[in-house]
Amino acid sequence: MRQFALLLLAALMISCTGLRADAAAKPNVVIIFADDLGYGDLSCFGHPTIHTPHLDRMAAEGQRWTQFYVAACVCTPSRAGLMTGRYPIRNGMCSDKRRVLFPDSKGGLPASEITIAAALKKAGYNTGMVGKWHLGHLPQFQPTSHGFDTYYGIPYSNDMDRVEGDRNLWKTDPTGDGWKVFNVPMIHDGKVVEQPVDQRTLTRRYTEHAVDYIKKHKDGPFFLYLAHSMPHIPLFTNDKFHNTSRRGLYGDVIEEIDWSVGRVLDTLRELNIADNTMVVFCSDNGPWKLFNEFGGSSGLLRGEKGATFEGGMREPTIFWWPGKIKPGVVADLGSTLDLLPTACALAGIEAPADRKLDGYDISPTLLHGKASPRDTMFYYYGQSVWAVRKGRYKAHFVTKEPAYGRSPKVPHDPPLLFDLETDPSEQYDIAKDHPDVIADLKALVQQHTESVKPVVDQLSLR
Ligand code: MG
Repeated sequence: MRQFALLLLAALMISCTGLRADAAAKPNVVIIFADDLGYGDLSCFGHPTIHTPHLDRMAAEGQRWTQFYVAACVCTPSRAGLMTGRYPIRNGMCSDKRRVLFPDSKGGLPASEITIAAALKKAGYNTGMVGKWHLGHLPQFQPTSHGFDTYYGIPYSNDMDRVEGDRNLWKTDPTGDGWKVFNVPMIHDGKVVEQPVDQRTLTRRYTEHAVDYIKKHKDGPFFLYLAHSMPHIPLFTNDKFHNTSRRGLYGDVIEEIDWSVGRVLDTLRELNIADNTMVVFCSDNGPWKLFNEFGGSSGLLRGEKGATFEGGMREPTIFWWPGKIKPGVVADLGSTLDLLPTACALAGIEAPADRKLDGYDISPTLLHGKASPRDTMFYYYGQSVWAVRKGRYKAHFVTKEPAYGRSPKVPHDPPLLFDLETDPSEQYDIAKDHPDVIADLKALVQQHTESVKPVVDQLSLR
């Protein structure tokens, strides 16, 4: 009997130690998301005159992913995909009527959706968000109603709620009063604390809040989603960065974001929690070339924000976790859709199993150099699949160039077919040589479309 009691005690001690080890092992997760930053806008992704030393160091110490996609080519649906691991067509967060949410919108991310924050909360995480949400500004849709313990930021884009006046404000002095024309509110845990928000200080204040949040929750585990409002036009920066970049105002704004990334990573290092924190840097969609030099660059990629060409949805992406993520460059496919399943795996919990997820756990690629489980991406324009990639091949069924303005929507039958491994700029249509590939890709789209159940279009509600 005594022996049995001793054995039981030993077993209990082992299992308790195991539990403690698990709790300590749950890494913190930080996602830093820029707005409308292009594939070619960082020095570590090839920009010749924008200087991003902190992101470059992050990339050198971590993994730079060169074929990483967002779930859609504009703000709202892209963010819905990141937060839920599901193509936005599955939860009504994309629309053929209105492409994003506006200040008069009545819809938002449905309460039935499970965000990364809500999932990680179940694993004992504290969850904080700082920055642009754009998944519904009404109280029931705000971050604090979607699994975040705390929220500080603006509910939609910084060019919205514009009072009448100059329509070319992105060309005015960014350190002047131009921000007063955009009646955008700053929200702190459900309350409007400033309106209009002084956009010259947005990047700096987001950063200060993010750093404070990390310090407060350094004992972890925590999940921080830092979604910058910049470089979405109108561009604003403070005196410290104004006129400091060789790339002009757009470069000033990117270099301030780079400073912000440095502040976040330095804070993690100073608190000695860098080796237990995974940080991801990405952007919500491609550059808004409509605004010429006030928009960014998609580098060697064709297309821009709003387009289903690569420049609209392939983003400069960096993963960083010193001692865990092996430094290098990854050319496998990945997506923001994969962040929810990956975060769940790192936290030691199951991803939601009661719904169709479109993401994969890419932690074996990040941590162990395994091949990425992703080989397919669907490129949505509103509620329709306009293009699909599987492996090296991408077919376009409809295109529109440029993405904004009165350019026509052009259907293609047979679709345009590009080999993205040899032709990342989508220049050379090889459809006539590969009818078999086209048949496969068409079947893939049909299979995907059949898996989508009809839901309420949240973006058209007002
Ligand atoms: Mg955007």
